[in-house]
Amino acid sequence: MVSRVIPVEPFDLVVFGGTGDLARRKILPGLFRRFLAGQMPPEARVIGAARAAMDDAAYRAFAAEAIAETAGGGDGPAARAAFLERLGYVAVDAAGTLGWDELGRRLRPGVVRACYFSVAPALFGALAERLQAHSLAGPDTRIVVEKPFGHDRASARALNATLALHFGEGQIYRIDHYLGKETVQNLMAVRFANILFEPLWNARFVDHVQITVAETVGVAGRGAYYDQAGAMRDMVQNHLMQLICLIAMEPPHRFEPDAVRDEKLKVIRALDPLAPGDVVRGQYGAGAGVASYRADADNPASDTESFVAMRVRISNWRWKGTPFYLRTGKRLRARASEIAIAFREPPHAIFDQQEGWKENVLSIRLQPNEGINLRVMIKEPGPGGMRLTDVPLDMSFATALGANGADIPDAYERLIMDVIRGNQTLFMRGDEVEAAWAWTDPAIAAWQAAGDRPRPYDPGSSGPEDALMLMHRDGRRWRDIRE
Ligand code: NAD
Repeated sequence: MVSRVIPVEPFDLVVFGGTGDLARRKILPGLFRRFLAGQMPPEARVIGAARAAMDDAAYRAFAAEAIAETAGGGDGPAARAAFLERLGYVAVDAAGTLGWDELGRRLRPGVVRACYFSVAPALFGALAERLQAHSLAGPDTRIVVEKPFGHDRASARALNATLALHFGEGQIYRIDHYLGKETVQNLMAVRFANILFEPLWNARFVDHVQITVAETVGVAGRGAYYDQAGAMRDMVQNHLMQLICLIAMEPPHRFEPDAVRDEKLKVIRALDPLAPGDVVRGQYGAGAGVASYRADADNPASDTESFVAMRVRISNWRWKGTPFYLRTGKRLRARASEIAIAFREPPHAIFDQQEGWKENVLSIRLQPNEGINLRVMIKEPGPGGMRLTDVPLDMSFATALGANGADIPDAYERLIMDVIRGNQTLFMRGDEVEAAWAWTDPAIAAWQAAGDRPRPYDPGSSGPEDALMLMHRDGRRWRDIRE
């Protein structure tokens, strides 16, 4: 299957923080891939803007290296040179006066203007303010704001208020790159473009939902940030909650930004407060040749969680009685992210030998090997009577879509092009972010007040024992964490 590529309108994209890690690993390589795919029109320009003194040539050399590190190959030197020609650089101080006039001279009227805030969150407000103060933003200018969006509800609200002084909500693109993942969008396609699933998509037929986002890496290198955040703020408040929303939301009347985001917001508002018994926090120890969390975070007394598991309940008609189990953590046994929808037993067993029976599970794999798999019961092949066995109906995107894995667009590529197109559907609205914090804040406050300490777990394991018990107590099991 060949994907159709529709070029976007000509644009100027300013990447504030254009020399940083995110620009190097994701933004520049992503833009290059969109260029190769024919989506960037010849008039598109990308301007790196950061504090370092650098000229266009040096920035192109930086970008060339970034592309060489990540590009899958298949492009020639001519394509790279043609892409690099579209790049420029201006030294700009987000919090000072350096470079703003020069940036203004580089920006062209009459093309889409987008400013990507790929800088520390403390600079988001200053950037918004200076863009307006230097008259660099018109009513059509878009700003892309990275995570973390606030540290709690109060700070998210303050940031929303600051941005709102300078930009309308329709100009603000709060990025959660999980929403740009191909499979996450497929979750919506599967739910709303098929008649098969939606009638079963409720507490009557769904026993429970499991969401796992497991990483093998530790926090070394970003320990200072992570130790202030923990898994709850770093992963649950944003990515996992977005996944819950897409699984649990009512069908929007159209696939349009506010229609989708209104439905997501209703889910967040319907979440029951987390009781202390619904949450298990963990922290990895040392072992198997790797340092402990506390060593990685350079904080020997840290009580920050590198793992969290929880049971979430949604109080609405559709989901009352169906728990959602979430877990995410560092230094786990495999890098694997998936959503699993486990359906209930059929109401009545007609076969004598039901012992092979297993629940139907729809699993949606976010990484690696993006794909969707549905396990169904069939008769075990052969003449041995009516024995049951379960088999997968597999839709691995890599094979089903005729693409090798490298052709599945990275989330950032997709999302940046959505910004240029002016489509906010896959971006978080301000009220959504605040509502998500309003749900996580009391849980964090409760464990802090109780002096809760994270349970230790071994690197390379599935997390602390208590997390397993969280499901066992309900007579259910976590799925294996497997690549
Ligand atoms: P980084 O520290 O690697 O880069 C920061 C960039 O900001 C550099 O280009 C630096 O020169 C520039 N900068 C710093 N002070 C500046 C100033 N006063 N004026 C102009 N430019 C200035 O950070 P990063 O990892 O690239 O992250 C950027 C943003 O993206 C952060 O908000 C981060 O939380 C978010 N983010 C990063 C990742 C990732 O994988 N790196 C993932 C998710 C979110």
